[in-house]
Amino acid sequence: MPTRPGLLIGRILGIPIYVHASWVIIFVLITTSLASQFTQQHPQWTNAQHWVIGIVTALLFFASVVFHELSHSIVARGYKIQVDSITLFIFGGVARITREPSNAMQEFNIAIAGPIASLFLSAAFYAVTLFFPYNTMVGALGTWLSETNLALALFNLLPGFPLDGGRIFRAIIWGITKNFSRATRIAGASGKLVAYGLIVLGAWFGLSQGQWTSGLWLAFIGWFLLSAAQESVAQLAIRETLTGLRVVDVMSQEIPTVLRDISLEDYSHEVLRTGRRCHLVVTDSRLVGMMNVHRLNSIPRDEWANTSVQAAMIPRDKILWAAPDESVLGLLERLLAADVNQMPVVSGAQNDGAQIVGMVSRDSILRVMRTRGELRLSAAEK
Ligand SMILES: [Zn+2]
Repeated sequence: MPTRPGLLIGRILGIPIYVHASWVIIFVLITTSLASQFTQQHPQWTNAQHWVIGIVTALLFFASVVFHELSHSIVARGYKIQVDSITLFIFGGVARITREPSNAMQEFNIAIAGPIASLFLSAAFYAVTLFFPYNTMVGALGTWLSETNLALALFNLLPGFPLDGGRIFRAIIWGITKNFSRATRIAGASGKLVAYGLIVLGAWFGLSQGQWTSGLWLAFIGWFLLSAAQESVAQLAIRETLTGLRVVDVMSQEIPTVLRDISLEDYSHEVLRTGRRCHLVVTDSRLVGMMNVHRLNSIPRDEWANTSVQAAMIPRDKILWAAPDESVLGLLERLLAADVNQMPVVSGAQNDGAQIVGMVSRDSILRVMRTRGELRLSAAEK
C-alpha cells in the first residue's frame, strides 16, 4: 500500500483525494485497452471517438472507485472514526481511516458499504444503457462500467483480508468469538489462500490459455494481496506487544539540552560526541524549541558554521508533545502519522504547571517491542 499519498487532486466532503504515481500506469493501460476494444466493436466510429470514449470511460471508472471508497468513509465517519485521505493507486483505491473500528458490527458495516456502492453503480450504469438504447457510444460506455463495477464488487467480496470481503469475514468471526486477534489471524490466513489462488489462476491463464496479460495481471494482484495480508498480521503482532504500555514506561528520563545561540557546527560535534539525535533548545533555562539531526541535515553543510541552532530548530509552538499516561500504541501511530522520530513527554500540560519529564522516540518503542518479543519466545520454548 502506498505510504506517501501522492498528488492531491481535490476534496470531497472534506476528505482529501490523492492520486499515487503508480495510478498513471493503470490509467494508461485501461484507456488504451478500452480504445482498442471500442475500435474492434465499433469500427464505424472515428478514431478520435474511440479515444475520447475510452478516456471518458476510464475517468468514470476511477470516479466509481472514489465513490466506493467514499462509501466506506461515510459509514466510518458515522462511527466517529476520522478519515485521513482517499488514495487512488495501481490496484484501485484505499481509504485511510485513523483507527480500527471498536466492534464487529462497525467493521462489518464499514466493509460492506464499498461492495454495496459498486453494485449500486453497476445497476445505475446498466439503467443508463436502457435509457439510451440507440446511442452506441453511451451504450458501450454504460455496458463496460456496469460490468466492471459488478466485477469490482464481486472481487472485493472475496473472503481474504485486506479485501472488503476479508474484513466482513473478520467482523463475523470477531462477532462470534469476541476475539479480535484470533479473527485477524484467521482472516489473514484466508487472505493468503485467496492470494495464492489468484497467483495459481494467473499462471494457469498464462501457461495453458496463452492469455499472458490477464495471467500476469492476476498473479500481480495476488502477490500484492499476499504482502498486504502478511502486513496486517504483522501489525497485529505489534498491537499485541504494545497493549497496556504507557509512554511513561518506555520514555527516557534523560533530557539532553543545547543552547540556542551555538552554531550548527558546534551542534554537530555535540551529536557526534554523545550519539544523541535530539535535543531540547533552552535559553535561561526556558524552553524555546527542539533540535535534531533531521533538522541539521536540512541545512547545507557549508552553512553550519554561520547558522545558529535557533535558526534551524523546531520552534516551541510547533513541537508535538506526548503525555506520560498516553498509550504507546497511540503514540506510535502519532509519530508515524506526523513523520517525527521523537517527542518530549510533558506532564500537567493542561494547566500551567507543564513540565518536561522525559523524551520518547521510535527507537525506544522498537527496543521495548524487541525485548518483549524475545521474552515471549523464550517463555514459549519452556
Ligand atoms: Zn472497498
